[in-house]
Amino acid sequence: MAEKIRAFVLHNANDLRMDRVEMPTLKPDQALVKVKAVGICGSDIHFYRDGRLGPFILRKPLILGHECAGEVVQVGSEVTSVKAGDRVAIEPGVPCRKCWYCRNGRYNKCAQEKFMATPPDDGSLVEYIAHPSDYLFKMPDSMSFQEGSLAEPLSVGIHAVRRSGLYPAASVAILGAGPIGLVTLEMVKAVGAGPVIMVDVVPSRLSLAKKMGATHVINAKEENVVEKIRALTGGEGVHFVFETAGASATVRQTVEVAREGVLRFLSAGRQNTKYRCPWLISSPRRSISSVFFGTAMSLKKPSPSWPTTGSMSSQ
Ligand SMILES: [Zn+2]
Ligand SMILES: [Zn+2]
Repeated sequence: MAEKIRAFVLHNANDLRMDRVEMPTLKPDQALVKVKAVGICGSDIHFYRDGRLGPFILRKPLILGHECAGEVVQVGSEVTSVKAGDRVAIEPGVPCRKCWYCRNGRYNKCAQEKFMATPPDDGSLVEYIAHPSDYLFKMPDSMSFQEGSLAEPLSVGIHAVRRSGLYPAASVAILGAGPIGLVTLEMVKAVGAGPVIMVDVVPSRLSLAKKMGATHVINAKEENVVEKIRALTGGEGVHFVFETAGASATVRQTVEVAREGVLRFLSAGRQNTKYRCPWLISSPRRSISSVFFGTAMSLKKPSPSWPTTGSMSSQ
């Protein structure tokens, strides 16, 4: 095997290069995986455009990419769960395994987690990665590598829907029909909830949402989102709202279109988004929480003006 392998390395904002990097060395509990497919996440685009995402700042060259699948080519001496030739989906975040969160099954909140393509940890847009074998998941033969690379974004939708307590026949609005909005739609359908109303400003996204099973789609550029959702729900608003766009407007709409259920924030959050938290939970009946690391991070350190009514958590 060649000693140097190819990787897409981000040196600065808007400065992405195909570089040669060292072949990773294998630890006893790791498998060497030849990367076969990598999705481009919104976070990769933030790092490429801005050189940062929320509190994570590019300070040295970084290999991008974390939504990935590949084929095991070699395993360390302690590895028994996978073998050479196995096709695997790769979980990109590896936690410390020791802290309170890790030991209580909430390892996505581990403060020491090493997450691919999040400074300073390199990602998977590289020919080979060495990865702990218990963070590799064998894929069925029927699943393509491209589909395997979608396991990580899909997990965001699964986690959000599980955390929400969504139930069959509940009405749902999903604000944002990008990849995370669409994987959330898949999970909402799997639960048997509906009607599902999806909102976006990009017509192609809305037509895909419709094709994937959204009951109604609303183009926020053409229609008043709040009025339309209220009209579609007998004036009551929906039971559950999943916010996946991270824009100030959708954050505001989240509250305005909700009945009294649970609000989900899935977006990583943009630099310029103003989350007006005291206003957000002005109704004590609402329970608000967020998932995914970007928003979770920001909620870990509430501002001094954090309100005390309602309930709030981040997972
Ligand atoms: Zn991602
Ligand atoms: Zn931990």
